[in-house]
Amino acid sequence: MVEQFLAEITATADNKVAPIQYRVLYDSQCEICQACVAWLKTLDHQNKTAALAISPEGVSTVDSRLKLDECLWQLHVLTPEGEILVGWDAVASLARLFPSTWIIGMLGQWFPFRNIGRLLYGFVATNRYTLSKCRGGACRVAKPEVVRRQARLGAFWSCYTLGFFIRLPLLLWAGIRAAMQRLSIFSRTYHQRLDLLNGKLTILFLNGFFPNAVPLLFGELFTTVLYDGLAIDPGSPKMRRSLQTHLRRLQPRITKVVATHAHEEHVGNLNWLSELTGAPVYVSEMTARFLTPFKRLPWVRATIIGQPPDLKEPYRLVGETVDADATQLKVIATPGHCDDHIVLYDPEEKLLLAGDAFMGSYFATPNPDVDSRKWLFSLERLMELDIEILVEGHGHIHTMRTDIPDFAGVVIREDPKIAISQKLEFLRWLKEQIDTGFQEELPIRVIEASCFPWGRRTSWETCATDECVRVLSLGHFSRTELVRSFVRGGSDALPTVFEIRLSGRQ
Ligand SMILES: [Zn+2]
Repeated sequence: MVEQFLAEITATADNKVAPIQYRVLYDSQCEICQACVAWLKTLDHQNKTAALAISPEGVSTVDSRLKLDECLWQLHVLTPEGEILVGWDAVASLARLFPSTWIIGMLGQWFPFRNIGRLLYGFVATNRYTLSKCRGGACRVAKPEVVRRQARLGAFWSCYTLGFFIRLPLLLWAGIRAAMQRLSIFSRTYHQRLDLLNGKLTILFLNGFFPNAVPLLFGELFTTVLYDGLAIDPGSPKMRRSLQTHLRRLQPRITKVVATHAHEEHVGNLNWLSELTGAPVYVSEMTARFLTPFKRLPWVRATIIGQPPDLKEPYRLVGETVDADATQLKVIATPGHCDDHIVLYDPEEKLLLAGDAFMGSYFATPNPDVDSRKWLFSLERLMELDIEILVEGHGHIHTMRTDIPDFAGVVIREDPKIAISQKLEFLRWLKEQIDTGFQEELPIRVIEASCFPWGRRTSWETCATDECVRVLSLGHFSRTELVRSFVRGGSDALPTVFEIRLSGRQ
């Protein structure tokens, strides 16, 4: 906490664009304060301000005149001239910095607005002190024993709801922007393919009338990856015609058909493609078990993606490696997204065919068979590899390599290892939140909310999308499943352990 705090100050000091800033000390445990900081960051395009979260050790390092209790009670702003502004006067001074709020700030320093402002601010600050000492912020708090004594769940929900409504316009706008982005990526990839690395790697984007709902509503594209003679994850029966068209146009040489895991959008055409090309099917032993017979899907998933047929003999089991045309790929077990997941790694090309073993650094609406604890271990294993190109099963490629050309929304210019480490960090933080929540015997809804505090940008930016996913998948994919995914025991693939725990608690 202290390091982070000092790092924020150092970062501020190092900022060459705006060396002199208004330093805003805020309570990172308070939903109201966090919501206001989100607005501040949105308004402040020119980096005129630096928001610093209050920590017991950090306050006096900013300025020796600052006192922790006073900072926790009301807003403190340190002006570039070294003046300390407090409460309403601090709010008004910040408002004067931005064109859209300037008028509030100007009026706010004169009678009678100044008096009204101070009165209102005083009311919120007085009540906030008991309200805001909630668990909505993060796992570490400035005064943990006070929190435990004072925080009632009613107070938690008041803060959380208030934080939600303060951010609602930002949240809705983020939802609309994300929907527009999805539409743009969908139209640019519709029945398209991407030939990369001189034809060694080809991404076939798969479409289908019902399956199209997924990229449009959730943003996951459907793909089959062709790599050096391997056809990986050939889609579901409802995408078969799309795959057929691609194969007719491209006429690729396919020597093996491989599945990374037994999810319906990856395995529905295994036998079909094998019969068409004469290439044998390769799956892991567990995937083969999950596919014979394939369990009945919930009707939403069966309607949209399509119920895959059972895997038919003959098929082969993958060993530690799979031979492609020119290279030998390592097979690495990566349970987490589901128990049977494997990834393929080409050490020569430093390329990882990740299937669904990554799914973005921030992914908050998993399927019910995700086990996030196992996923943490799998990601730690992947961190040991030298990866320059990470190819996901749902249409994203993470790489800095210049021989992979730009393709907005598909090729993401970031170091794959950094992307994986960010996901690891997010999952570790979630684990801590959830473990703490269970130790304190909080209800599941409260634990879920504490995993998505409004102070985290991703929480509100993806809120509209995440909640759409929850409603449209009838609860199959949701933020609740993310919490659930941390409390699954042993090799149990179903969330029964969690449900027993939950009913026991309540
Ligand atoms: Zn999957």
